[in-house]
Amino acid sequence: MAAAEEERHLKLTGEFDCDPSPLSTVRHSTSHVMAQAVKRLFPTVKVAIGPAIEDGFYYDFAKSEPFTPEDLERIEATMREIVKDDLRFERREMDRRDAIAFFRERGEPFKVEILEGIEAPQVSLYQQGDFIDLCRGPHVASTGEIKAFKLLSSSGAYWRGDEKNAMLQRIYGTAWLTQEELDQYLWRLEEAKKRDHRKLGRELDLFIFNEVSPGAPIWLPNGWTIVRELERFVREHLDALGYQEISTPILVNRKLWEQSGHWEHYQENMFKVEVEEQIFSLKPMNCPEHTLVYRHALRSYRDLPLRFSDMGRLHRNERSGTLTGLFRVRQFAQDDAHIFCRPDQVQDEMTTLLGLMRTWHAHFNLEPSFKLATRPADSLGTEEQWRTAEQALHDALKSNGLAYELNPGDGAFYGPKIDVDVQDAIGRKWTIATIQYDFGQPDRFGLEYIDTDGQPRRPVMIHRAILGSFERFVGILTEHFTGAFPTWLAPVQARVLPISEKHIDYAREVWTRLRGARVRAELDDRNEKLGYRIRDAQVRKVPYMLVVGERERQSGTVSLRHRSGDDLGAVPVDRVLADLAAEITSRSASLTVGRP
Ligand SMILES: [Zn+2]
Ligand SMILES: [Zn+2]
Repeated sequence: MAAAEEERHLKLTGEFDCDPSPLSTVRHSTSHVMAQAVKRLFPTVKVAIGPAIEDGFYYDFAKSEPFTPEDLERIEATMREIVKDDLRFERREMDRRDAIAFFRERGEPFKVEILEGIEAPQVSLYQQGDFIDLCRGPHVASTGEIKAFKLLSSSGAYWRGDEKNAMLQRIYGTAWLTQEELDQYLWRLEEAKKRDHRKLGRELDLFIFNEVSPGAPIWLPNGWTIVRELERFVREHLDALGYQEISTPILVNRKLWEQSGHWEHYQENMFKVEVEEQIFSLKPMNCPEHTLVYRHALRSYRDLPLRFSDMGRLHRNERSGTLTGLFRVRQFAQDDAHIFCRPDQVQDEMTTLLGLMRTWHAHFNLEPSFKLATRPADSLGTEEQWRTAEQALHDALKSNGLAYELNPGDGAFYGPKIDVDVQDAIGRKWTIATIQYDFGQPDRFGLEYIDTDGQPRRPVMIHRAILGSFERFVGILTEHFTGAFPTWLAPVQARVLPISEKHIDYAREVWTRLRGARVRAELDDRNEKLGYRIRDAQVRKVPYMLVVGERERQSGTVSLRHRSGDDLGAVPVDRVLADLAAEITSRSASLTVGRP
């Protein structure tokens, strides 16, 4: 994120069009105030850049020693004084050459470097009190408009995100329009720490990472159970919708990537392998191989749409410094599929897909929102193709009655796309799903179908993933549910706990019946106190505990407990089995067994 955000800001410093929403204006203005405070407290520090980012802002400074937590407190206190002084942000235009001389004289080499990289003849400067910065704006009118902010952390960051450049000190902060929003955000940060999937992944034995394969999770039995359940969920739905599942090679000759355009547009993200003096790549996506499946037979208008699903393993060369638990990995699999259809079928396919997304996401209590991403600078295709494709996506969203945000220039190089964010339990948004309209690949691979008039026509290719990468999705779900997965996903769905060793036989009988009903159940007959074993099951987030003693044996019941701590009392074993099976089969998001 950081490097791209930085590049964008550097570009913007010249011609200026920072996202002018009130929130990012406040955040960006707060970064100026922070730089002013830093210069006041550390006059020899050099300033680099300070953009607004998602949820806040940062500013980079050249300083030999890192900022300490005490420094951040002092800086924040000084910022509050500057806010109290209610200084106006005054804009001033300057000839670019004059600006270079101006910042050189002030001893600000980073500003000079930015200015030297800009082509515009005129640039703008903003001054509040004793601080002046090169900036396109916009800003709030005066520092008094900054109501709610907090500095969060500091860390080293390379100038322009490049490790060959100087190491700078970055301070991150957050700013909001109201104190209430700030408080909520700080609560979310605290919550997120508690829910960190890397921590929960260790505690619940879901997965590990090993230095021998950075960015590739080693799935433990518990974590892999979740992935398998998700795959099963995907397969059951797609089979019913007429998708056909295929499997395609991982190691693929560069010839294919040259034809698809990936070699030209995506090469830096691909792992390459030499085999018998030829260059192969580990596939970063399935699409080009799916065109081979399409071409394998003569297709008529009656055969379309063809929907190929492929959960194959993909590799992308992410820089090691950016790898983050399951959120940014090098190896993953997606619930990927490609739809080949006639142009007149695009609308229906898109409509079905958008509906499918809403149903699937609802299964996980995730709230979706939609973004339409349009033509990027580096892209294939003609104006006309892009216009038609963007219109088709727009129409599909409209006909589904879905509100959406526009994301100009964020499309794939082969076509526009709809990205879907889901909002989790603590209000964070994650982009997981995507629908992409592709006219590039059918052209490049010469795909055809025979139309009603006997003439060959070009089909449209739709790329789509609904859960996205299983790795990332499991990471999101782990944090969303704080590891307390719905029963159908829980690695262990029930634990049977005999009160003492006298009740082991009955416990074993209950356990056997659970397993016979395909419930993932464990028997905890360890020689430990019952209270200890109950707590242990709760820590492991096992949805149901079935406690059995003499009374339960005589009445054919179990004493049922939820991981939440609720004690539901005696329930007949038959009813527990039937209700548990129903809860699992319906993939219920909440725990229902034993509830009235
Ligand atoms: Zn600014
Ligand atoms: Zn694709």
